[in-house]
Amino acid sequence: MSRRLPIYILLDCSESMAGEPLEAVEVGVYTMISALKKNPYAIETAFLSIITFDAKARTLVPLTEISAVAPPSLSIRPGTSLGAALDLVRESISRDVKQTTLESKGDFKPMVFIMTDGQPTDDWQGPIARLKAVKPHLAQIYAIGCGDDVDFETLSQIADVCIHNKTLSTESVAKLFVWLSASVQSQSATPESAISLEKKIPLEKGMELINTDSPPKFTGQNKRLSFHVTCLNTKQPYMMRFKLYPGGSFFMADDVVKLPLDFFSDGAMKSPPVDTSLLQGVHICPFCGADGWGKCGFCGHLFCLTPQTPSRIVCPVCETNLALSSNTDSFSIDGSQG
Ligand SMILES: [Zn+2]
Ligand SMILES: [Zn+2]
Repeated sequence: MSRRLPIYILLDCSESMAGEPLEAVEVGVYTMISALKKNPYAIETAFLSIITFDAKARTLVPLTEISAVAPPSLSIRPGTSLGAALDLVRESISRDVKQTTLESKGDFKPMVFIMTDGQPTDDWQGPIARLKAVKPHLAQIYAIGCGDDVDFETLSQIADVCIHNKTLSTESVAKLFVWLSASVQSQSATPESAISLEKKIPLEKGMELINTDSPPKFTGQNKRLSFHVTCLNTKQPYMMRFKLYPGGSFFMADDVVKLPLDFFSDGAMKSPPVDTSLLQGVHICPFCGADGWGKCGFCGHLFCLTPQTPSRIVCPVCETNLALSSNTDSFSIDGSQG
């Protein structure tokens, strides 16, 4: 068998990717795979694996020759288990990639691309230490952080090269995958090259190289907040998102995104509570059109409400009978972890 170039793509499918960003990533992956299937070097050399991470890490595409890769469909879950994804990629490389021995040349050095929009929510120090402990150096790791809330202090410790893709718009994600596709094609043509990809393939507009020796300080102050809400009428889950108002003293209503019905199947995780006095603006329930929301005093879950909602309701999550109070004082609610 000829020497292979193993490529691992790790995709963040946490809830902060819900909606347009995830659709853009799905299209990007599809477009990249189509392009690689037309490239003679990639067909000859590149093998692709796709791993997603959210509450868990999952191998959606095991290491497969390009011509046989089917683009996966992606779905979102709570959490950003990057540590679990790093363990999974290390195990896969150790199992699937042929090492060079005295008798024969092994596969080319694997490339790992991590695409994330936030901060890991699991332990990543253990997994990255295990990955780096393997000698010789197991893979060249590129981390591509997208959007406003990326923790580059952490990513700089994980990756050899960090790139900031400044937004998660459909257009910018498409450009990112153009770069990724060109990079894989270039490496497939010269798989022994140790030149870092961003030096060979110019970064697209909106992408910027991060200095991993002095990455931007991560303050922990997110610019976005999101909350899970259950529709009182249909019991379907959705997420309402807020973004930090310029100047930074409160959060404005941004958008709502429907969540899949099985969204909580791997368990919801909670992040530090947020005082509702910091939240401004109106979200419309995407299922019934209600323009407000309330909190169950028993289970703490949020549900949609209107001024016309009867004063006695049943919590759509814990099914406790509730008497609605018109208390307008601020209270604290649990943010979701993304
Ligand atoms: Zn509703
Ligand atoms: Zn409840």
